[in-house]
Amino acid sequence: MKRREFVGGVAATAGLAACTKTGSNASDAPRTNQQRFEWSCVTSWPPKFPGLGMAVENLATRLDRASGGRLKIKVYGGGELVPPFEVFDAVSRGAVEMGHDASYYHKGKVDAAQFFTAIPFGMNYMELNAWIYYGGGHKLWRELYQPFNLVPFLCGNTGVQMGGWFNREIKSVADLKGLKMRIPGLGGEVLRRAGGTPVTLPGAEIFTSLQTGAIDATEWVGPYNDVSFGLHKAAKYYYYPGWQEPGPGLECIINREAWESLPDDLQSLVEITCQAITTDMAAEYSHGNANSLQQLVADPTVDVRPFPADVLQHLKSIARNLVEELAAKDPTFAKISKPYYEYLAKMEANTRISERAYLDTRL
Ligand code: CA
Repeated sequence: MKRREFVGGVAATAGLAACTKTGSNASDAPRTNQQRFEWSCVTSWPPKFPGLGMAVENLATRLDRASGGRLKIKVYGGGELVPPFEVFDAVSRGAVEMGHDASYYHKGKVDAAQFFTAIPFGMNYMELNAWIYYGGGHKLWRELYQPFNLVPFLCGNTGVQMGGWFNREIKSVADLKGLKMRIPGLGGEVLRRAGGTPVTLPGAEIFTSLQTGAIDATEWVGPYNDVSFGLHKAAKYYYYPGWQEPGPGLECIINREAWESLPDDLQSLVEITCQAITTDMAAEYSHGNANSLQQLVADPTVDVRPFPADVLQHLKSIARNLVEELAAKDPTFAKISKPYYEYLAKMEANTRISERAYLDTRL
């Protein structure tokens, strides 16, 4: 045993010596300095909104503390500096250094970006993390944003969402016809093909639109956030599951010049902190959703119910056709959809015998 430790010790020392030698060139040394950075971060969320908005505030607070005040970030809610859906453009052109939003808001500008938030009937939280961090997803994402002068990081995940709030019952596929619903991204396009009318509204406008009847239905996030908006006071039927967003990731986007101006240690800190926020937000949502669901189930004016199986089946087949169609006409979309679905198929085989099998038998 002692001999093995000794041998290991020699190997470790030799490895260290090799590293030292390689690193002896001053130009290879990590770039660190005491320069201070003051950045602005624009977001798509109502200011300090629970979960989504507070996650960015937490990101800023943690970066400030962990960097000893060398990287200070001032966070702006949607509309405070730029409108909620102009975060991508503002960071891209360098008006601000950082942004926090959801990549599916860039539909129409860079359609393939939607894979990094959520795809209807696509990856859940665990699967998306695996793809981004280990399965090549992050590399594809960085390549996709390169022409826009942006460096993206996964920064948050709400976990599987709810199907949404409806002012009328959805008993069959026919009930989707004429349904005017706030639902962004590919989910919205699926609804359109099912006969509905999707609209994209920033979070702050959802409650009034639903209450006044300007829309018949809305999806937002899940019990935790939906109760914050009071959506349960504007509609009766609360459908699940959130087929349109099975585990959406949020993004932190950084202007390339700003990113490259950071020394290595601060770049590393940004990367680590974004990853910490992803874990933290998912935990916060699980906690908050469970608490708010209790409240909703106890509320006699609310009816929490599953979508009929045939409705989900119909939406799923539309979603698959839609993705294939988009891939056929847009090579950039195909470049990401192909590895995404290959990875999902591999993951599904694993998820089926692990998480799914376990959850089906727990209770
Ligand atoms: Ca949503």
